[in-house]
Amino acid sequence: MRHPEFQPVEAAFQYCPRCGKAREEAGNPLACACGFRYFFNPAGAVGTLVSDADGRILFIRRERDPGKGKLGMPGGFIDPGESGEEAARREAYEEVGLTLGALTYLISHDNAYAYGGVAYQVTDFFYTAKVECFEGIESDASEVQDWFIARPEDVKAEDFAFESNAFAVETYVRNLVNAD
Ligand SMILES: [Zn+2]
Repeated sequence: MRHPEFQPVEAAFQYCPRCGKAREEAGNPLACACGFRYFFNPAGAVGTLVSDADGRILFIRRERDPGKGKLGMPGGFIDPGESGEEAARREAYEEVGLTLGALTYLISHDNAYAYGGVAYQVTDFFYTAKVECFEGIESDASEVQDWFIARPEDVKAEDFAFESNAFAVETYVRNLVNAD
């Protein structure tokens, strides 16, 4: 996903953080004459498609930019030292108060997190999880504007904050069709 109006993350770093000299060459990696090298690798993030016994999925409307007011699913950045599964469980609990059981890996997709004028490269990893029902959801108002449950095929791709989320939902629906 490209954001032409946002600066690539490697362009946002103009000086060597070790010696303070201006970069001689733009791009990735930052390679300084002092010997310092830094590779601008993507950050890891997760999202979980949580379904109930009727096959409906929990969607959230984002309270924060990027994509404020647009749709997503419980998820977020992987913290240092965490596995993807741990991040998925933590985010689901923080955002909607859900304690997830077994997680099944679905698919990954690249993403760009456009924030403060910079487009940070991200790799999103998606999981699925099942719950009996969605009773007792308590959303965190600082992150979630509201939430709803819907059949995944009824949610439009353009309503998602991130293309990667729409791709995960499409993949999920395609797998369901193939499993029938
Ligand atoms: Zn340097």
